[in-house]
Amino acid sequence: MFLRFFSFTLSQLLGGLAGWFVMSITYVPITDLAGVLAGVVLGGVTWFLLDATRGVRLLRWLRVGDAAEVAMRTGLWGEVSDRARRVIRARERETQESQHRLQDFLSALQASPNGVLLLDANGQIEWLNQTAAAHFGLDAQRDLMQHLGNLVRDPGFASYFAQRDFRHALIMPGRESTAARPVKLSVQLHPYGNGRLLLLSSDITAVEQAEAMRRDFVANVSHEIRTPLTVLAGFVETLQTLPLNDEERQRYLTLMAQQADRMQSLVNDLLVLSRLEGRPLPSDAEAIAVPALMRQLEQDGRALSAVMNPGAEPRHQLRFESLLSGDIVGAPSELLSAMGNLVSNAIRYTPPAGSIVVRARLLADDRAEFSVSDTGPGIAPEHLPRLTERFYRVDRSRSRDTGGTGLGLAIVKHVAQRHGGELIIDSTPGKGSVFKIIFPASRVRLPKEAPASLPAAPAASAPDLASSRWSQTTES
Ligand code: ADP
Repeated sequence: MFLRFFSFTLSQLLGGLAGWFVMSITYVPITDLAGVLAGVVLGGVTWFLLDATRGVRLLRWLRVGDAAEVAMRTGLWGEVSDRARRVIRARERETQESQHRLQDFLSALQASPNGVLLLDANGQIEWLNQTAAAHFGLDAQRDLMQHLGNLVRDPGFASYFAQRDFRHALIMPGRESTAARPVKLSVQLHPYGNGRLLLLSSDITAVEQAEAMRRDFVANVSHEIRTPLTVLAGFVETLQTLPLNDEERQRYLTLMAQQADRMQSLVNDLLVLSRLEGRPLPSDAEAIAVPALMRQLEQDGRALSAVMNPGAEPRHQLRFESLLSGDIVGAPSELLSAMGNLVSNAIRYTPPAGSIVVRARLLADDRAEFSVSDTGPGIAPEHLPRLTERFYRVDRSRSRDTGGTGLGLAIVKHVAQRHGGELIIDSTPGKGSVFKIIFPASRVRLPKEAPASLPAAPAASAPDLASSRWSQTTES
């Protein structure tokens, strides 16, 4: 301030001096004092104009200038400009920080697996993430500030949105939903701020499917158990109420034993499946020797064929070809159970005169293939994709008559998948079927040197996971 006063006084002084000097060298008929006064006024006005120019410059800088630059360095205006620059830069930093925070926040919302959509008080879209855009078929840029009610036309959503009762979530079909591939969304609006709404959506198709599967499963199990149980109860009542001779009683007891076996098979297969689901994946520490596995399959297969067709002539022609002398790395009991189910199916569904070939071989790319081919009735193509579903049967009565539970191929597929393998089914109605399990090379352990004859590996231990149908029939 002192500098300002000093410069103002100095400019007036200089003006006065200049006035006096001009008066003293010119011969204008007015006094020197008048010249001095005029000089002082002129000096003051000049100072004011220069000062005003600096003020205008500062004003322009404040309006459009760059905060990184210094508008001026000296004087009062210099100090004002410096202070203003600091305030502006501090504000800019704060704005940048909050913008970064906002970006981080939006990125987090963008990464959310759920749809997030913000609506203003008029129901217009303020922001939405890509998941919400995909759920509702919206465009995250183009549809901003559009009214959500105009874009999402599902009637259920329209009435949910109109009623403004958002205490519960709405279940509605997703944008991509078709009859063949239904997509279910759970949508809920949450009011916040001044009349604003936060919409959260999540794809619950898998959850709904799992729930539907659970319901179907319980219904199927109940049905499967109820049938033999009803028959059993009927026989018990007959035995209790009717006077039967020994032969009749024996016949009823045999039929009752069959029904009890059926229930036991079912419960065993269910236990196998639930154990498979609950267990960790098979480790690399265990393995089963293929020749031993094949020997066990042959022994059990021949026994089953004999039991299934007592006294039948001609018998099944069974051939077991073990063309692989290494090990399959995995859980022996599971592997035996899976292969056993395939052999069991081939024997149960192929008429006694038919032939069955069970083969283990190494493929060119070091994968291992187990195949079971039969000359049975074959399976129509429309059934093939559903064969591994639980309780799916092509011929219900044939399956039941032969002690089937409808769970065998579900177990096989599960075991194959747990070992990184796949189940391939080829079938021609009237000609026969081929079921193959292919294990990846990582599950195949070949012997160090190919031996001249196959090593006599110890027989596989009794399978704790073997399908009941398999283990039971081989025991009998
Ligand atoms: P099941 O206990 O009924 O045999 P699976 O899951 O093992 O149940 O098999 C499912 C259905 O696939 C069977 O009901 C049967 O109709 C059909 N199937 C399985 N293996 C064969 C086969 N080798 N030949 C003909 N049909 C088969």
